[in-house]
Amino acid sequence: MSFDTLIVNGTVVTATDTSRADVAISGGRVVALGESLPRENCKQIFDAKGKYVLPGGIDVHTHLDMPFGGTRSADDFETGTRAAAFGGTTTLIDFAIQYKGQTLRTAFDDWMSKAESKAITDYGFHCIITDLPDAQMEEMPQLIRDGVSSFKLFMAYPGVFMLDDASIFRAMRTASKHGGMICMHAENGGAIDVIVRQALAEGKTAPKYHALTRPTTAEAEATSRAIALAEMAGSPVYIVHLSCNDALEKVREARDRGLPVYAETCPQYLYLSLEDMEKPGFESAKYVFTPPLREKWHQEKLWSGLKNDHLQVVSTDHCPFCFKEQKELGKDDFTKIPNGGPGIEHRMSLVFSGGVASGKFSVNRFVELVSTTPAKTFGLYPRKGTVAVGSDADLVIFDPNREHTISVKTHHMRVDYSMFEGIRVKGMPDVVFSRGRVLVEGDKFNGRPGSGQFIKRATYAGV
Ligand SMILES: [Zn+2]
Repeated sequence: MSFDTLIVNGTVVTATDTSRADVAISGGRVVALGESLPRENCKQIFDAKGKYVLPGGIDVHTHLDMPFGGTRSADDFETGTRAAAFGGTTTLIDFAIQYKGQTLRTAFDDWMSKAESKAITDYGFHCIITDLPDAQMEEMPQLIRDGVSSFKLFMAYPGVFMLDDASIFRAMRTASKHGGMICMHAENGGAIDVIVRQALAEGKTAPKYHALTRPTTAEAEATSRAIALAEMAGSPVYIVHLSCNDALEKVREARDRGLPVYAETCPQYLYLSLEDMEKPGFESAKYVFTPPLREKWHQEKLWSGLKNDHLQVVSTDHCPFCFKEQKELGKDDFTKIPNGGPGIEHRMSLVFSGGVASGKFSVNRFVELVSTTPAKTFGLYPRKGTVAVGSDADLVIFDPNREHTISVKTHHMRVDYSMFEGIRVKGMPDVVFSRGRVLVEGDKFNGRPGSGQFIKRATYAGV
């Protein structure tokens, strides 16, 4: 018996177990787990003494190479997946957008062509539906069979992305019948638009008005409506980028009733707040994304939601726009600031640091939030999301004691600022493997564009 690679002396952590074991990799998969596995003829051996061996991170919410308001997100599939790898994320699910009048297949093909030759990590797509006549409704089952088994719908951005309740309800019924999952951007876009127009008419054009015109009640109302529609349709629903306690209460209530309702939050809502919108001049445009930052007290509620499984996933909603020339498009009008922030690289460290290192929850819960539940919810498990014999060798040797100060000076994302500038984290990836290949070792990058694979995801099977 000989292996391609052995990781020895580490502490293997899954969502349920913590054990001292060597991990053997051959042909891109984990082929053995156990004490003192034979080292003869092994091509490479990594010593993980004092470190965790975790399943690679799975970020189910990213926007690479995405057109928005006359520009496009600054990371493409090469720079974005490279930054993801540096942060310990080895699979991401991006969003393929169907524009009005297009087939869903066109969206899938367009995003495949952006990713195929560039992606360094594995990837999949959710399909954003913005237009749903009968012909596109009929495409949904085929897309699910092609491995795009989830759809994202918007209750915000009227005239651009927003779908009406009837279309949402019909999409949910179709998805549930064929094993699809519906991801929902839950904000009441109609009410928000009225508030935004009033603010502009009153001359309130600074970036902070982006946050002040999108109340938490608008998010809570849409979350509650999404849950009600899903309940009537008999479908699961996954609330994306939940930002506030008001919406969290709706999710908790639905889950208490036993409904298949899931929600993610993102590091920006756990670490940043409305106070960051008070920065001088145009600086706060760096924090213009949707939903917006909330009052600081929501952070504690979200952390406790993660601990108590009222929230199931942490994703990033990575959608970077440079401050210069991109964010500046909205210098005189906050509605013209491209919505989004960079975060793909720091999710694992931020959640580990704030969650595990600070004693809020276990390292197993951490793995569950950043890898296992994302895999289970979106049809990647057990190929991804755990350390087990037969699973892809997407692994991270993670040093729980290494500290790092996040900064634009050292990050790998192609964007000219960091949302988390100056934040000190404890817990960093040392070595990152994708299907057995070393992508990152310390500061060294070994990945190759185009080596990431499209992952055909299975249907929703309950979690
Ligand atoms: Zn998003």
